[in-house]
Amino acid sequence: MTLSVKRQVALQSHHTLGCPATTEYWTEVRSLNELVEACRYAKTHQLNLLPLGGGSNVVFTQPFEGLIAKIAILGKQIGNNQGGKVIVEAGAGENWHQFVCWTLQQGLSGLENLSLIPGTVGAAPIQNIGAYGVELKEVMDKLWAFNRETEQIKQFSVDECQFDYRDSIFKQPSSPWIIAKVAFKLSAKFQPKLHYQPLKQLLDGKSVTPQQVSDTVCHIRASKLPDPSVLGNAGSFFKNPVISLEQFKAIYQAYPEMPHYQAGSHQIKLAAGWLIEQCDFKGLYQGDIGVHEKQALVIVNKGNGTGREVMALASQIAKKVSEQFGVQLEIEPRVY
Ligand code: FAD
Ligand code: NAP
Repeated sequence: MTLSVKRQVALQSHHTLGCPATTEYWTEVRSLNELVEACRYAKTHQLNLLPLGGGSNVVFTQPFEGLIAKIAILGKQIGNNQGGKVIVEAGAGENWHQFVCWTLQQGLSGLENLSLIPGTVGAAPIQNIGAYGVELKEVMDKLWAFNRETEQIKQFSVDECQFDYRDSIFKQPSSPWIIAKVAFKLSAKFQPKLHYQPLKQLLDGKSVTPQQVSDTVCHIRASKLPDPSVLGNAGSFFKNPVISLEQFKAIYQAYPEMPHYQAGSHQIKLAAGWLIEQCDFKGLYQGDIGVHEKQALVIVNKGNGTGREVMALASQIAKKVSEQFGVQLEIEPRVY
């Protein structure tokens, strides 16, 4: 056995919210063999098994009773050309942003709008990461996942992943799948996607390169989002709610300045950050936990706030938004 399992490991530095918590057992898996070993170890010792990437989309509210397996399977390679698309594969443990930068250095485009999202390649399909008008499902080719119950590897097509808005089959709490490798279909011929206002404002009408789009995305993100290495956070704490046209019309009458976006023919997406701001939470702190001054969708931890305090503030926010707008907010990160 090559697997090294540690006992009682602190989790504060293993997730970006930085709340104090511990795990009973901890291991790092660097290969498929080690992943199999970790799953067998958990089975033999009757432990819950939690795969963890960069910890940028999780909240720990209590000690984790089980085995956390940090997915550190590395490797990336450029494959064949399929119908004008270049297939690129990456191990689940690769850092997402570094992988995006590497694809750009190879002269390949497709991931530039998704620059500077924290976390790993393997976690990117979990909630179908999205930013600035691009979602993972548009650029993914396939992925390979390991079933911890049957110990089989399965190749998933995009359709099989059941991607939705910040969701997939893998985000279900009962999912047995651990993603080991992801393949992307990238392009040597650049077609910029600049329809999100901040990108349009800075770049529209100009002849841009994928690297310039990536640099612009990084610049905008750095100007309004807290850097988790400086201020603990898990990104957007709530999904942007998608509501019916009827419900939208009723709210819009009272709030004609409310930002909104078409989401299919009969649904409207609202900006959760705007709703939270209207409820006066922006910049509000309860001890070390608070709502970011520049983006109300982000709950931050100034230092020693706990996961329970994070969830308590999140409940107050959701309750107030529900009372004021009749809109139910759904938490985006996974809570343990
Ligand atoms: P983790 O937090 O480690 O894990 C998240 C979930 O996935 C957990 O349930 C975990 O068990 C599971 N998991 C992790 N790896 C695997 C695997 N290999 N197989 C199976 N399950 C696995 N998200 C966006 O969509 N768009 C954004 O623009 C965005 N911006 C962000 C900005 C900031 C500042 C922060 C802190 C977060 C942001 N996020 C964003 C959220 C987060 O970065 C993404 O969801 C990211 O993909 C999570 O990756 P991770 O490796 O950190 O996952
Ligand atoms: P923003 O520009 O202040 O816009 C607020 C929200 O409006 C965004 O979340 C976005 O929804 C939506 N929006 C804006 N322009 C749109 C358009 N043209 N069409 C449809 N929807 C539009 O957002 P921000 O907070 O600075 O974030 C910028 C981007 O990064 C967003 O795409 C956001 O999702 C992403 N991001 C995500 C996280 C996370 O943790 N999930 C954290 C930070 C940033 P969408 O969210 O659906 O794109």
